[in-house]
Order: sequence, then structure tokens, then C-alpha cells
Amino acid sequence: MAMVRKFGRPDLFVTFTCNPTWVDILNVLEGPQRPEDRPDIVVRVFKMKLTELLDDIIKQNLFSRVISYIYVVEFQKRDLPHAHILLTLDTYSKIRTKDDIDKYVSAELPDPIADPTLLQIITICMIHGPCGTLNPNPPCMREGVCTKQYPKEFREKTEENINGYPMYQRKYTESVIVGRHYLDNHWVVPYNPWLSKKFNAHINVEVYASIKSEKYLYKYVYKGHDVASIRFENEKILDHDEILSFLDGRDVSLPKRNINRDFVTGYRGQLLLATATSILAVDFNFFPVRFAKTETYGWSMMDAGVGSFILLQGLCSSHGKSLTAQHR
Ligand SMILES: [Zn+2]
Repeated sequence: MAMVRKFGRPDLFVTFTCNPTWVDILNVLEGPQRPEDRPDIVVRVFKMKLTELLDDIIKQNLFSRVISYIYVVEFQKRDLPHAHILLTLDTYSKIRTKDDIDKYVSAELPDPIADPTLLQIITICMIHGPCGTLNPNPPCMREGVCTKQYPKEFREKTEENINGYPMYQRKYTESVIVGRHYLDNHWVVPYNPWLSKKFNAHINVEVYASIKSEKYLYKYVYKGHDVASIRFENEKILDHDEILSFLDGRDVSLPKRNINRDFVTGYRGQLLLATATSILAVDFNFFPVRFAKTETYGWSMMDAGVGSFILLQGLCSSHGKSLTAQHR
């Protein structure tokens, strides 16, 4: 909310998903490898493309002048990276009219004659589902209804929606065959033609239109990854610990752990005690004189004490590191 207070509410919400069939990925796979075998390559290429996309938006002013942006990279359950980007435009670049919306976002299939390349990209990357009667069991369906409200209605002109995203223009057109289905503008996920054509990926661009959804948007981008608690149990033995299932794990990094770490740990305490004993023992009668240092050469218990203090202090730091690693 601090972002909204300083820069105003965001104007555009962009979701950029990695395309595992980018030539940059396929060209560097070896032999029978598939993109899912090389997550290292997939994330590197995605990062490069994301940097380029942000550069087009922020520095090249694709959507006019951006005054603030945030983005979060997430990994879907199949580890395919995607980024949620929220953009706030400056006062003179705000999207105010229906024409402004149409200038940046389309929710229709491109003309097959005018731009066959874009049509191919959109039919591969920007078609929702299909779900509903055409396909009753995709993940978007809950109790027989699509949670993303597809198929969308045909609409002659873009309309601003009071609470949420605008209702984009979706004119009635002939269907095109996508996979096993004939699909039309009912199923197109809103996109920016220039970005889709350049990056050949799923890039959902939504104009953000209401005060109500601003909290949702920021919450959505910061929601973090999905978490699950799993446990292996023997068959037919119910061993359910209700308290344990409500425990939440926390990832503690090295700086986070050390910032609250006690200066005198048990380990250091023992070390200091051993050192002090070996030094002070010289002053008591029971100390064997042969171990006392009486000459300027040779070694004594005191030397051993001081030496061990220096040596063990050194070891103590690496001991501390391994302790931290175990707690991560
Ligand atoms: Zn659906």
C-alpha cells in the first residue's frame, strides 16, 4: 500500500510466462534432452527475456512513461518460471479512455491474412482452456464453472468495468482450429500484440481499472509459492498430530540467523573456560612445576592455553558456519 500512496494505483498488470520451446532453449539442449531436463538453461533464458521485456517497457516506454514497477518471479508446479509485473504510469500516460485500452490490449484473434505469425503465436500461447462443455476437467473448473470466467462474451466495443478489469472488445468472427477444437474470440486471453510477437510467449496484459482490485493485485504478486505439508504413514494407522500440521516452517538465511545469534554460545563458553583454567593453573601449588615456563624458550601450559585459544577461535568460526547450514 506504500507503493500506491507514493505513486498512485497501478495501471497495467503483465504476466510473462517462460516458453520452453523458445529456440534459445532448444538450440542448446544436448541429444535427447528435453527442456524439463535442463532447468538451469530454462531459467537463464527466461531471465534474459524478462530483462529484455522490462527494458522494452521501462526504458523504451512501450506503454508510455512508467514511474514505478514491481515484479515477482514465481515457479509453477512444473517449475516453469513466470513473472507478475505491476506497472504504474505517469499522470500524462494514464490509460483513461476505451481507445487507450484498445491501443495496448487486444482480446481477439489476429487477422490470419494480415499477420499469420501473430495468429500462430496467439493460438498457441494465448488461448484459455478450452474448458466448460468443450472440456469439463481442466484445472480452472470448480463445480462446473470456469474460475477465470471463460468463455467470455462477444462484445462489439471495449467497455470499462467498474470493479475489476475492463471488458475488452471481442467481435464475433469465424472460428479457427486450435488443437482438437474450433475456437473463436470467446477464448482469447488479453495480450499486447507487439509483446506477443516479439517474445513468442504467454504474456497476459491486463488494464487495471478499479480501486477494489489494487489490494488484490499487490497481494497476488506477493503471495509466494504454494506450500503443502506431507507425511508418510503406515497403512491403516492414523497418526495425525493436529498441532504439527499447523506448524509453519521458516527459511532462515545466514545473515538473518546471525543477526540474533548470542555472542557467548555454549561452545565459546567452554572454550574460554578451558583457556582460562590452563592459564590460571600456573598460579596454584598443585600445578606441576615441570610444565611451568621458567626459561625464555621451551613450551609451557600457558603457551598451550594461549595457542589453543587462538587455534580454537579459528575453528569456532567454521563450526559456527556449519551450524548455520544445518539450520537452513
Ligand atoms: Zn476455464
